[in-house]
Amino acid sequence: MEQNRVYNFSAGPSMLPEEVLKEVQRDMLNYADSGMSITEMSHRSKPYMAVNEEAQALLRELLNIPDNYYVLFVQGGASTQFACVPFNLLGKNKKADYIISGNFANKAWEEASRYEGLDIHIAGSSKADKYTYIPKNLDIRPDAAYVHLTSNNTIFGTRFNEFPKTNVPIVADMSSEILSREINVNDFAVIYAGAQKNIAPAGVTIVIARKDLVDDTDNVLPYCPTMLKWKTQADNDSLYNTPPCFPIYVAMLVFRHLKKLGGVAAIQKVNEEKAALLYDFIDNSKLFKSTVAKEDRSIMNIPFVTGDLDLDAKFVKEATAEGLCTLKGHKLVGGMRASIYNAMPIEGVKKLVEFMAKFERENG
Ligand SMILES: *Cc1c(COP(=O)(O)O)cnc(C)c1O
Repeated sequence: MEQNRVYNFSAGPSMLPEEVLKEVQRDMLNYADSGMSITEMSHRSKPYMAVNEEAQALLRELLNIPDNYYVLFVQGGASTQFACVPFNLLGKNKKADYIISGNFANKAWEEASRYEGLDIHIAGSSKADKYTYIPKNLDIRPDAAYVHLTSNNTIFGTRFNEFPKTNVPIVADMSSEILSREINVNDFAVIYAGAQKNIAPAGVTIVIARKDLVDDTDNVLPYCPTMLKWKTQADNDSLYNTPPCFPIYVAMLVFRHLKKLGGVAAIQKVNEEKAALLYDFIDNSKLFKSTVAKEDRSIMNIPFVTGDLDLDAKFVKEATAEGLCTLKGHKLVGGMRASIYNAMPIEGVKKLVEFMAKFERENG
């Protein structure tokens, strides 16, 4: 790692691979011999069109996305997709089911519930238990247009280790884990993800959607704004209007980098190793405790507490002084949270575990 860089455990925006940041820095004044920065050129220019194309192609390759899916680059963050999902899928069939496994899942359900004439149903929820586990024994209506879930719960640190077995199309918010583990895209009707956790700077949102669903425009609610209609970007190769060129360009570099590392299978192994290091320590610690059900643990976001607010605060302060930054937990959980996305080197997790051991010796 570069001197004076820290290990940043932020939940998002979060770390990017240092190699990519350096490449961005090198390219900044003169991209691909154009004499201008990627942020200064037309989105219809040759160099940018090549970026748009390569970024899409690499994402298809990395996630093994079949041809019958669109890959879209849109704006507005994952939060805008909370509206896009009902807008684009409930034009005919008004029924949709939601699994409420965390704060973002709850927001997605709230958004869908705002619109008149829709029949929005909760198929399962762990809200009453502070989202400490993934809801099981789901009540998914077999005639629903889709069931929505958040595959990895960023704030609470749980994830679906297995996805529901259902014939109802699954729509998944994968913002905080996309490209961190192998998935079978065919298991989903739609996948969406904001870029700022595992892919790129904030500003671009990825939508992977089955073409038959998007092309059937009867699925779109009549009042859906043009810019929120997936078909708008699908018909225009995500160039209907000015795209967020810079984050898409960084995404392309991150995809290249990930491919060089061996793709999703390779990074999954490292991610599992990183999570195991941290969880093994927590499970054997007398001071630190996990806050979630063991079988539902995320390997991206790992919350932990001492049970003593003052001690938690002391931990965060002393860790920061050691270059282990942004470990303060989300206000809904408290304590600490280590977000260890793809770009967090294993050395960062090792250093965190060493620091936790030292802290426990001194304060346990
Ligand atoms: C961060 C996050 C969001 C919100 O993303 P924005 O891009 O800020 O709208 C939604 N869902 C999940 C799972 C997230 O981690």
